[in-house]
Amino acid sequence: MTLSDRLLDVYQRLYAAYGPQRWWPGDTPFEVIVGAILTQSAAWTNVEKAIANLKAADALSASGLARLSEEELARMVYPAGYFNAKARKLKAFVEMVRSSFGGEVERLLAAPQEELRGLLLNTHGIGPETADSILLYAAGRPTFVIDAYTRRLFRRLSMAAPQESYESWQSLFTANLEADATLFNEYHALIVRHGKGVCRREPRCEGCPLLEVCPTGQARMGAEAAGKQGAPAGKAKPEHEEASRPLLQRIEISLHLQSVDESFRYTVGRL
Ligand code: SF4
Repeated sequence: MTLSDRLLDVYQRLYAAYGPQRWWPGDTPFEVIVGAILTQSAAWTNVEKAIANLKAADALSASGLARLSEEELARMVYPAGYFNAKARKLKAFVEMVRSSFGGEVERLLAAPQEELRGLLLNTHGIGPETADSILLYAAGRPTFVIDAYTRRLFRRLSMAAPQESYESWQSLFTANLEADATLFNEYHALIVRHGKGVCRREPRCEGCPLLEVCPTGQARMGAEAAGKQGAPAGKAKPEHEEASRPLLQRIEISLHLQSVDESFRYTVGRL
């Protein structure tokens, strides 16, 4: 199976399990852009509250945000966290649209893909993940969004990018899949859905729709089964004996076990 086939296979399994995700939640491209900036380090439910504040103040537009002072804007986006920094980022974005496109977001989004990405990346507070979210979900351009869920999942699937850079991860997808905005849109949304619900930091491998193609999940399930079968009766230390160890010794043992587990997961992830 080629890498391209494996990527499509993962997509199809996720799609069969979860169905279409219909991203991005937002009524207009401008709302999508604001959401992409506000969602940095924030839960989506809190972003929704900030967006509701902007809507209530009739400020969810480039001219609406331009009219607010940075302090007023910070108060409105307070629920999304890092409110002062995010107000500054939103202000920087509308200033870029004003200075380069006369305040017309539609003209910005119509720019050629590389030019648009460059403009976004040169704007204060917009990094590659936010820029690509805007390109894909607000402008409908075929670019792949890389985030922490993507990296974690594909490491566990033993399909990690050869290097850790954002570009290397992105080309894992763009070099092996057809440049199709609809596919990239759905694929990223499915990865996030799976990463939040199943392939979490502590993965829930039992019943996972990717278990059949996931070496990490298979190793974990195998180790779990062996652990259940293998522990001979009478070998486990009685609870009272464990509790009677000196505190420092118990902490050391716990840290050691964590590090063994991390190293196991890392090794399996790189296979
Ligand atoms: S089997 Fe486990 S590790 Fe693999 S994708 Fe599913 S949840 Fe993640």
